[in-house]
Amino acid sequence: MNFEEKRNRLVDNLIKRGILKTPAVINAMRKIPRELFVPEDARSSAYMDTPLSIGAGQTISAPHMNAMMCEYLELKPGDILLEVGTGSGYHAALCAEIIAPENSEQRGHIFSVERIKSLAETAIKNIQLAGYEDRITVIHGDGTLGYPEKAPYDKILVTAASPSKIPKPLKEQLRDGGILCIPAGSKSFGQNLYVIKKKGNKFETKSITGVRFVPLLGKYGFNS
Ligand code: SAM
Repeated sequence: MNFEEKRNRLVDNLIKRGILKTPAVINAMRKIPRELFVPEDARSSAYMDTPLSIGAGQTISAPHMNAMMCEYLELKPGDILLEVGTGSGYHAALCAEIIAPENSEQRGHIFSVERIKSLAETAIKNIQLAGYEDRITVIHGDGTLGYPEKAPYDKILVTAASPSKIPKPLKEQLRDGGILCIPAGSKSFGQNLYVIKKKGNKFETKSITGVRFVPLLGKYGFNS
């Protein structure tokens, strides 16, 4: 079975499990070659529904988690998105395909912050290989500070587990009506995925499911 066949089989399975629902998210999952975003020796496992090591002690999340977070963010063409934790760049590419589809006049954009320089550099290469460099800006830095230069954001995606549900800078940089999707809890066990909607100065918080993410490290994250 080639990569495309494996990718389609994985997507069919995520639809069957009720995780993938929205046509734009399904299309993105069918289109983005996950094998380009994992180290060469892990390519044969690219379409297993599991996290994979990407070096520097970090992981690319399992595809069902990418799918779930994209669905909960209610992404739409034209959205301006902040991602905290670029990792491999795969999740950013999925989001880019949804918020700035080819041939659409609505040009959404992703500002994605990664604290580990080598990963940020590899992610930039991966994103170029997949052809999304015009829709994603990767920034090396501490994403717990957000990226105030381009705020406010329609959506914020955090892909590492935070000690608090809404780190203060992200609270301020989410626009009114915007959605934040974030895993939060303890450093390794006992984390939940939260979807938080900003309504005026209120934040409506919904707990989705138990999850396991690498820790969010930084000024408004865990210390080390
Ligand atoms: N979204 C990624 C992908 O598609 O490959 C997976 C991200 S991985 C589960 C979490 C990432 O968050 C790691 O690359 C880690 O270095 C990064 N991270 C942790 N704390 C961070 C911070 N304060 N700012 C930016 N990135 C951070």
